[in-house]
Amino acid sequence: MRVFHEDLSEYDYQDEDAFTDRESGLCALWYRPAYTRLNVGWLEAGKPYATGTVPTAFVEKLKAVQEVQRMNVCLGVHECDLCPEDEAPEGNGEVRIPGGPGITHAAPFLITHYVTAHGYRPPQPFVDAVLAVDLDAWAAARWPDVPFPWVPDDAERMREQR
Ligand SMILES: [Zn+2]
Repeated sequence: MRVFHEDLSEYDYQDEDAFTDRESGLCALWYRPAYTRLNVGWLEAGKPYATGTVPTAFVEKLKAVQEVQRMNVCLGVHECDLCPEDEAPEGNGEVRIPGGPGITHAAPFLITHYVTAHGYRPPQPFVDAVLAVDLDAWAAARWPDVPFPWVPDDAERMREQR
């Protein structure tokens, strides 16, 4: 799957955002977002991208967020396009990080790999937004809550656990 998007362009890849209950593994709630989604980190071989160092705290925090938030995982696997084919890691799903009012950053799961293995430097607003995540609150979220603050009340929810 090849999906290149310019950083901070508007995300229009999927109409809906779907969050998965990390304990049951089901794609458990979904909705059409009222917030604007901005692309971050959708890299592809042959397309230039920003490079540079990022704070270690940012990388650690982003990894920790990815431990607790599972979203858009039911869309399939996305392989790193920048690695040699036989070494390319795969990522499943995406990441959502709230930005300013009405703005959410939409990144592929592999973004941490792009930063650590390929020297990618995400835009500063994304770095700041990750550092601002209330990780304790996100880690404490249990179904029917998910680790993301802007799920609308009328989100569709899968009620039965299989
Ligand atoms: Zn890679």
